[in-house]
Amino acid sequence: MPNAHGDSAGTGTATADTPEPPDGGQASAQARADELRFRLYTAVVLTVGVLAAGAVSTWLPFTGSVHLWWIGPLLAAAFLGAEQLGVNVDVRSGISWTISFTEIPLVIGLLVAPFEVVLTAHVVAGVTTLLARRVTGRVLYNAGAFLLEVTSAFAVAGLVRQILGGADQMPWIAALAGTLTAPLASTLLAMAAVRVLRRRMRVNTVLRLAGRILVVGFVNASVGLTGYLVISNTPEAWPIVLAVSLGLAALYWAYSDLLREQRDMEALTDVSLMVARSGQQAAARPAGRADDVDGGVDIEEWTTLAERIRDQLAAARIVLRLRLDPDESMRTVVVGDDLPTALPVDDPLLRLRGSHVRHLRLTETHPDVRTALLDRGAHEALVVPLRSASQLLGVLEAHDRLSRWRGFGKYDVQLLGTMASHLATSLDNRRLLATLRHDAYHDPLTGLLNRPGFRQVATDPLRENEHSVVLRVDLDVLSTVSDALGYAWADRMLMAAGGRMRDTLGPDVPLARLEGASFAALLVDCDADGAHETAQRLRTQLSAPYPVDRLTVEANAVVGYAATTARENADGVDVDSFLQRADMAVRATRSGEEVRAYVPSMGQIFLRRFQMVTQFRQAIEQGQVSVHYQPKVALPGKQVLGVEALVRWQHPEFGRVNPDEFVPAVEAAGLVGVLTSFVLDTALDRVRRWLDEGLRISVAVNLSVRNLADTEFPAQVADALKRFDVPGELLTLELTESGVMADPERALPILRGLAELGIELAVDDFGTGYSSLAYLRQLPVDQVKIDKSFVFGMGTDLGDLAVVRSIVELGHSLGLTVVAEGVEEDVARDQLEAMGCDVAQGYLISRPLSEERLQAWLTARTVRSPAPASEAVLMLLT
Ligand code: C2E
Ligand code: CA
Ligand code: CA
Repeated sequence: MPNAHGDSAGTGTATADTPEPPDGGQASAQARADELRFRLYTAVVLTVGVLAAGAVSTWLPFTGSVHLWWIGPLLAAAFLGAEQLGVNVDVRSGISWTISFTEIPLVIGLLVAPFEVVLTAHVVAGVTTLLARRVTGRVLYNAGAFLLEVTSAFAVAGLVRQILGGADQMPWIAALAGTLTAPLASTLLAMAAVRVLRRRMRVNTVLRLAGRILVVGFVNASVGLTGYLVISNTPEAWPIVLAVSLGLAALYWAYSDLLREQRDMEALTDVSLMVARSGQQAAARPAGRADDVDGGVDIEEWTTLAERIRDQLAAARIVLRLRLDPDESMRTVVVGDDLPTALPVDDPLLRLRGSHVRHLRLTETHPDVRTALLDRGAHEALVVPLRSASQLLGVLEAHDRLSRWRGFGKYDVQLLGTMASHLATSLDNRRLLATLRHDAYHDPLTGLLNRPGFRQVATDPLRENEHSVVLRVDLDVLSTVSDALGYAWADRMLMAAGGRMRDTLGPDVPLARLEGASFAALLVDCDADGAHETAQRLRTQLSAPYPVDRLTVEANAVVGYAATTARENADGVDVDSFLQRADMAVRATRSGEEVRAYVPSMGQIFLRRFQMVTQFRQAIEQGQVSVHYQPKVALPGKQVLGVEALVRWQHPEFGRVNPDEFVPAVEAAGLVGVLTSFVLDTALDRVRRWLDEGLRISVAVNLSVRNLADTEFPAQVADALKRFDVPGELLTLELTESGVMADPERALPILRGLAELGIELAVDDFGTGYSSLAYLRQLPVDQVKIDKSFVFGMGTDLGDLAVVRSIVELGHSLGLTVVAEGVEEDVARDQLEAMGCDVAQGYLISRPLSEERLQAWLTARTVRSPAPASEAVLMLLT
C-alpha cells in the first residue's frame, strides 16, 4: 500500500558553538505552534478512527465462514512482511511515499476475515514496525491512520456489496474497491497533515501522487486477488503466484531505483544552484570591516540548503557546522529536530580525517562514536567533513532516517558525499573571495583600511550621523627616514604609527592609511571639542619618538579635520570631499599650530590657488604679471647698488595677488621655469636700458628650489645674459637657505655653473634655516641677506640684535657681502651701519616700485656720480 507520512516540522535554528541553549527565537516558537496543531490533529484522527471503527464493526457483522484461529496472526505476519518489502519512492515537502505491498494481505483479508481481525492485524503490524524502526514521534497519528484506512476499506467494500445485492455476487469486486479506498484515505490524511504543518504542496504533485497510488494499489490488489483466487481453486499453482509476486516486487525495485536516481540528481542540482547563488550574493555584498565580510547574514541561506538536503535524505535532522572565517569559531545550523544539547567544543566528529562520508551507528563499539551519537540523541548518522586542501571548513551531518522502515543506504552516502564536495568547493571560493576583498580594501603594511576601503566603510556612517568628523594625520619625517635608513625602517615606523593610532582611537573607529605617511580616521557622534581633543591626543601620540631598532627617530605629526555641518545635504556627503577638506586643514597647519579644523575659507583659498595655477601662463602673455623693483643701497656710501626684482600679479578677478601666495602654487605646478625666465628677461632688459643710458645698476632675481634642480638652468641664464648683452656681475641670483639645503648635492653643480658666469649668488632669508655659515663657505656664494624678521626685531629684541651682529661678523670673516633687508627705521639703518653691514634694503629707502615709479624715484632721489660716462652710478640724496 502506498503510504504517505507527514514529517515533523523542520525549522532551522542557528547557534554558535557556545554552551548556551539553542536560541528560542521566532523560528522555534513557530515550530512549537506547529507541533501543537499536529497533536490536535492526531487526537482528531484517533478519535474519528476509533468511532468509525466502532460504527463499521456494528454495521457490518462478518458474514463469511472463517473460524480459523490462525487467520489473525497470519494476516499480521503478512502485513508485517509487506511493509518490510516497501520501497520508498518520493520524498518532497515533508511527504514520503512508500510503495509497500499491504494491499495484498488487505484484499485477502477483505475476502476471508472479519473486520476486527484485519483491523487488529494491520494496526499491530504497523505500530510494531514503527516502534522497531524508532519512528516514535508519530506513532499515535499513524495508529489513527491505520484505523481509518482499514475502516474505510471495509466500509466501502460493504457499500459495494450492498449495491451489488448480496455477499456472494462476485465478492472480489467489493474487495477490490475496498482495497483501493485504504491508500486513498491514508493519502488524504497525510495531505491534511501537511496542511496542518503549514507546508506547501503543489496541486501537481498531489495529483501525480494520487494517480500513482491508485495505479500501484490496483496492481497490488489485482495480484493479491488473482493469487488468492488461483490458489483457492488450484492450490498446486502457488509457485506461479509466488513467481508473479516476486517479479512485481523486482519491477518496483527497479522503478524506484530509477526514480531515486532522478531525484538525487534533482536534489544535487538544487543544492549546487543554492550554493552558487549564495556565493554570488556574498560576492555582491558590499565590503564591511574585516569582521563582517562574511558575517551571520548567510545563516538563512545555509538553513534553506540544509532543509533541501534533509528533504532529500528524509533525515530527522541535519546539522551543518561551518567556519566562514578562519579566525572564527564554527557556526552551527540545525534543521529538523532540535539538538538535545549544544554540541561540545571538543566534539569527536570535528577530528574526523579525510573528506569521505562516515556511516555511524549507535551499535558501533567505538566509544567516541557512541558519545557523539548520544550527544545528538541519534541512532545513526551520516557525517562528512568539509575540507579545502587539508583545512577543515565545516562538518555536515544527517541524523536518523525519518518515516522510513530502513536506515540510510549506500545511495544516501553517495549523495551526501557529492553534496558535501560541492559545499566545500563553494566555501573555499567564498574564502578566496573574502581574502581578495580584504586585500582590495586594506593596506598590507599596517593592516588598516586603504583609501577605497575607507571610502566603503565611512560612506554610510558619514551620511547617517549628523556629527561626524574625518581626521587626517600626516607624519613628517618619513622621507628622511627612508633616505637615511632604507625603506624597511620607514615601513617599521609606519606600522608603529598605525598601531599608535589604533591604540589611541580604539578598535571600532574606521582607520585608514591613505598613502605614504598619511592616515585618515572617521569619528562618529563627535562634536567640535571632542574632535579637537582627539586630534590633539593623536598628535601627541604620533609625535613621540619612534624607537626603530637601536635608533630613535623623531617625527612630527600634523592633524587636520573636517566635520559635517548641519546644512549639508545627507546624500551629497561623500568621503572623498571630506578627506580633501581635512587635507586642506592639514596643509593649513604647516604655518604653525599642529592641529587644525577645516573652515570653508580654506576651500576658497585652494580653489583660488587652483585657478591661479591654471591661468598663470595666460596671465604672463596678457601682461597681468609685471616686475617691481626695490632699490638696494650701500650703507656708508649711499650708492644705489642695484634693485631686487619682485614679481607682481594684477589678477582680473582677485585683484593684486601677493607672490607669497601664488609663487608656491606656481612652483608646485612645475611652472616656476616660466616665472623665472619671465622675471629674468624683464630684469635684464631693464639693466640693458640703464647701461644704454650709461648707468651701472645691478638687478637681483629670486630663484626657487626647482630652478636649482634644473641642470639646464645655468645655460638658460648664460643665454639671457648674452641676449641682453649684460655682464654677469650686474646680475644677482637670490636663493633661500632652505632651497640650497633641500638637496645640496643636486644644487651644487648648478650653483657652480652659475658662479662660472660671473654672477653674484646671494643666500636669501638667512638665519631662518638651520645651516651654519661655515657650511656656506663650501658653496660658491657671494652674499648673505639677513632675514627681515631679525632686522625688524633688532631695536627691541636683544636676541635678534645678537643674531644680526653675528651674521655680519661671520659673513665678513668668510669674505661675504652682508645685506640687510626689511630696513624700515632710521635707527635700524644706523645700527646696521655701525655694525659694518654692507647693504640695506627696505621701506625706509623705498618700497618695491613699478618700472615708471622707479624711474621717477631715481630722478627725484638720486644724483649721478661724477664718473666716466659709461661707468656712472647713482647716489641717494639725504
Ligand atoms: P623675498 O625675496 O624675501 O623678498 C623680500 C620681500 O620683503 C618682498 O616681498 C618685499 O616687498 C618685502 N620687503 C622689502 N622691504 C621690506 C620692509 O622694509 N618691510 C617689510 N615689511 N617688507 C619688506 P614680496 O614682494 O611680497 O615678495 C615675497 C616673496 O616672494 C619674496 O621674498 C620671494 O621669496 C618671493 N618672490 C618675489 N618675486 C619672486 C620671483 O620673481 N621669483 C621667485 N621665485 N620668488 C619671488
Ligand atoms: Ca629676495
Ligand atoms: Ca628675503
